[in-house]
Amino acid sequence: MPLRQVFDYLPAENETSPRPGMRVLVPFGRRKMVGVIVAVADKSDLPLARLATVIAYPDDQQTALSNETLGLLKWCWRYYKHAPGEVVFNALPPMLRKFDGRIPPLPLQYRLSVAGEERLNQPPGRIKAQIRLLEEMRAGPVTELQLRAVSPAWRKTLARLLDQQWVCSETQTAAQLNPVKGPVLLDEQQRAVAGIGNTLGDFHCHLLDGVTGSGKTEVYLCLLEQVLKKGGQALLLVPEIGLTPQLLSRFKKRLGFEPVVTHSGLSEGRRLKAWAMAKSGLARLVIGTRSALFLPMPDLQLIILDEEHDASFKQQDGFRYSTRDVAVKRAAGLAVPVVLGTATPSLETFNNAVSSRYHWHRLRQRATGATEPRWRVLDLIQQTMTGGISATAMQAIGETLGKGEQVLVFLNRRGYAPVLLCHECGWHAACQRCDANMTWHKATRRLLCHHCDSGARVPVMCPECGADALQGAGEGTEQLEQMLGEAFPETPLLRFDRDTVRKKGEFERLSEQVKSGGSCLLVGTQMLAKGHHFPQVTLVVIVNLDQALYSADFRALERMGQLMVQVAGRAGRDQLPGEVILQTHYPRHESLLTLLSSGYESFARDICADRQTACLPPFSFQALLRSDAHDKGDVRAFLEQAKQSFPGGEALVYGPFPAMMERRSGRTRWYLLVQADKRSTLHRQLEQWVSKLHKLATARKVRWAVDVDPQDY
Ligand code: ADP
Ligand code: ZN
Ligand code: ZN
Repeated sequence: MPLRQVFDYLPAENETSPRPGMRVLVPFGRRKMVGVIVAVADKSDLPLARLATVIAYPDDQQTALSNETLGLLKWCWRYYKHAPGEVVFNALPPMLRKFDGRIPPLPLQYRLSVAGEERLNQPPGRIKAQIRLLEEMRAGPVTELQLRAVSPAWRKTLARLLDQQWVCSETQTAAQLNPVKGPVLLDEQQRAVAGIGNTLGDFHCHLLDGVTGSGKTEVYLCLLEQVLKKGGQALLLVPEIGLTPQLLSRFKKRLGFEPVVTHSGLSEGRRLKAWAMAKSGLARLVIGTRSALFLPMPDLQLIILDEEHDASFKQQDGFRYSTRDVAVKRAAGLAVPVVLGTATPSLETFNNAVSSRYHWHRLRQRATGATEPRWRVLDLIQQTMTGGISATAMQAIGETLGKGEQVLVFLNRRGYAPVLLCHECGWHAACQRCDANMTWHKATRRLLCHHCDSGARVPVMCPECGADALQGAGEGTEQLEQMLGEAFPETPLLRFDRDTVRKKGEFERLSEQVKSGGSCLLVGTQMLAKGHHFPQVTLVVIVNLDQALYSADFRALERMGQLMVQVAGRAGRDQLPGEVILQTHYPRHESLLTLLSSGYESFARDICADRQTACLPPFSFQALLRSDAHDKGDVRAFLEQAKQSFPGGEALVYGPFPAMMERRSGRTRWYLLVQADKRSTLHRQLEQWVSKLHKLATARKVRWAVDVDPQDY
């Protein structure tokens, strides 16, 4: 329940003795609900007669959460001031949040029987599908996951094999580490591996700060090998779009076994299996997105967070937590090291490295020997532009393609045009539910709001004045694709954005096509900027990032720098030198110049100094009280009343302010900002405050939530 308390129950009268971490079925008001025992006590503040009794323990004696995870979750609900029930449920796989979900038995594996081996040595005959599965087992027992990869109908085929006793099943054994030798490490890599490896068995935070292609993943692999050799488990957390088949096959190849993978896109059944594998210790290495952070792992000895700066590591609704910060907390509790890897550290992490709270390992050389890409800044003032690209950039694109090389054009905006407007009267298509324009998607003839997903057909005439004068303003990737396609009709052109790669496997198909070589044009959003190795791209064109230079969000500049470095990292990764063209109206912007001439570390130092002067995070600590409702009056009334009730102390409360996007999905959103120089004062006052907020009369008419260490406003 979204309530900031836990509830007392009497144990059921049966043989199961309640222990923390066990799931229970309990009456709650008139409903029945799934709960988790967080503590066992011998008294209650409520009179005995008023206590309800547990109905059942669905998993018998088994616990769903270990003491370690429970401890971490308790810390989370105190730190993030969030409802314990929601925090705990967030850590359970979706199936265990339901009545009929059960902790599954340990997964099985299948091995050839003597009869099966004999059958395999005879000609296949008409049972080709069965023989294919038998073949899979020739070298040893195989898991269901491996069989699934052989054929979609594997279950049926396997049933026949079991019927004929050609195959027997047994409880799965832990995957055997069978590593192949990696490349000889460069000095920098070696120092990082040694420095981090030395701290195994103890809590230490490491920033692995390495430029794109410097071999961070190789460092992870060496460390994983060390941990797995000792029989430990390891957890690798990656951003949502970083979890690619490419990455998985690299780990599998090097370590010689299949890591367990989990992310929110998997079916609930698969997620439950992954969870059970982690919990039983069978999963030696888990690779997952944000939600994998809370997996039970009894022998966890190393946590790695790749691309630690990535925004997807912050959960932005419900239980709002930072995967990075909780990972550090978890590592501290377990007394194991945590590695934060990135080419562009977040300022929080950067500051921790500068102040020696974190070990700082720099990798400044590209492992493949490729040189850093060259930057070229194009002043857009008075340039002739076609579809967002200047004549100079067009010429460079043409020259690069002419040499048989590949070009990547980056624009972080999908659709055809971000605005559709009437040239006669100035009408433009705005979302009815958000303070945002609808994006024009020309190919599908739709107007789409990228904030709430509302859609509409593109009108033929202006709905305001009836003129036949509707046109797009600004560019999106769809328009770039069309324009570049017309300019370079002979060149294969591939577009990567959420619209083109919705279909499963589409990204991989496109990537393979690019890697097979030959000149081609890639157009895409940040989907292209992350972790993908396109060795033949030698020119990157950044169409426009100017918005970030003068944004009201103090983090915009940091994010722009990160994105630019990530995108630029796509250029010239192999033997061919790369060039990056940045189109901008502000070629003399100071931070931009620092980034281009001295690199991300100097850039980060500069903006860190600015933040310190302005007393902004990471040099102060913040929390937001967010509130939204259909009616703006209700939101403001609640926040005004909340502000009145803010307890005195060193932390101060500011606002109410409208959210950066005030209206979204039909709701008006405002917030109060609390800021303090010390984390401890912030938390002390927040704690007192939040317990009072529930009782405010105005609170009932709005939705509200606390966001500790907010990332957006
Ligand atoms: P990052 O994760 O920092 O982007 P990777 O680990 O993916 O870098 O390495 C980039 C490329 O360099 C990969 O193809 C990798 O196999 C190769 N590589 C990494 N370390 C070495 C090394 N010591 N010697 C040769 N090649 C290496
Ligand atoms: Zn009009
Ligand atoms: Zn909208």
